[in-house]
Amino acid sequence: MSIIFPLAVRPVTVKGRNMLEQLIENVHLITLDPEREGAYGVLENAWVSLHEGKIHSLGQSQAPEAEVTVDGQGQFISPGLVDCHNHLIWGGNRAEEFEWRLQGRSYQEIAQAGGGIASTVKATREASDEVLYQAAAERLQALLEEGVTTVEVKSGYGLSLEHELRVLRIAKQLAKVFPVHISTTLLAAHALPPEFNGESDAYIDLVCQEIIPAAAREGLADCVDVFCEGVGFSPEQCRRVFESAQAHSLPVKGHVEQLSDLGGAKLVAEFNGWSVDHIEYLQAEDVPHLTSSGTVAVLLPGAFYSLKETQMPPIQALREAAVPMAVATDLNPGTSPLASLRLAMNQACVLFGLTPEESLRGVSQYAAQALGLGEQKGILREGFDADLVMWNISHPSELSYGFNLVKPSAILRNGVWV
Ligand SMILES: [Zn+2]
Repeated sequence: MSIIFPLAVRPVTVKGRNMLEQLIENVHLITLDPEREGAYGVLENAWVSLHEGKIHSLGQSQAPEAEVTVDGQGQFISPGLVDCHNHLIWGGNRAEEFEWRLQGRSYQEIAQAGGGIASTVKATREASDEVLYQAAAERLQALLEEGVTTVEVKSGYGLSLEHELRVLRIAKQLAKVFPVHISTTLLAAHALPPEFNGESDAYIDLVCQEIIPAAAREGLADCVDVFCEGVGFSPEQCRRVFESAQAHSLPVKGHVEQLSDLGGAKLVAEFNGWSVDHIEYLQAEDVPHLTSSGTVAVLLPGAFYSLKETQMPPIQALREAAVPMAVATDLNPGTSPLASLRLAMNQACVLFGLTPEESLRGVSQYAAQALGLGEQKGILREGFDADLVMWNISHPSELSYGFNLVKPSAILRNGVWV
């Protein structure tokens, strides 16, 4: 078999057929497996064997023989990183709005003045498929170079049947070309399109009766998302969207409690949603709802930072209730122009007080759970996808410490070196 190895990692032996495909030995495994004790679930001086795109086995002694054996040279291996909240595909940019915000205008004021999401909707509708694809590909490449192997991609800047589906199809095309798993999310209930000005219920009718059924029929969406907010949609409207999603067997999630407390998290929990995202204004007394529904709390420090938000998400209450906390980029042109999950990891520590271990679990174990992939990705365990990242570091905390100091020395996706 021919594999191109990065300079630092070369096979030491190549044996015959009829055995495991690959063995990587002389590594420290950051398993993050909750069934392993100790910080980060680390297995020191270990090996991991891969077969047919999966982790076949891992351990510290008696490594099996494999067709190809790789000497990891004492480096660390983590699960491939997962960005579980990402608006990757959009047209135009919002640099002008950035200037307005620096002059002191609020997100709500800019939205009411026709800026914000509405300006990106216009630019996205006007852009060709090729222009949208190319711009998204460059953002995606930046994430992949950091060790990201799974990315969520939301629609939400099309806001019509035609353009919402178009964006999801572009997401599917990216997944065919790049070495990444893409989880697609229909976010038609992101903002009110201009042609429905003053008629938000009529737009929700379109979302429920046409856009969700069409996305489900074409298999374009893995999940349905909403923006439950004063500048988005009311809890009653979001409930209708969730009922439609449920009728089409699609799971749900929500942008909730970002700018105010409308009870969106409770609503997502009622529908056993995958995640509640942002949640700066979530009240501590509402946190137990998330425990009973198994919903992940997705923290988005990039938006918190960009909006100079001061209201902190209820981190301690989430910890005490053992709600899994994920961390994501929220990559978008307005409030989180941040194509770096590693920066979000650092921000989650600095701005929200997460430990480096919580931050790393937030972009792997819990981020995978937030995409319904918790039984396949996000930890190193037998039978899980062989999405691995090799790091030349001396401790896992280096992945959250600093920014851009450490890059992957090798990345495998489904057992293939990329
Ligand atoms: Zn978002």
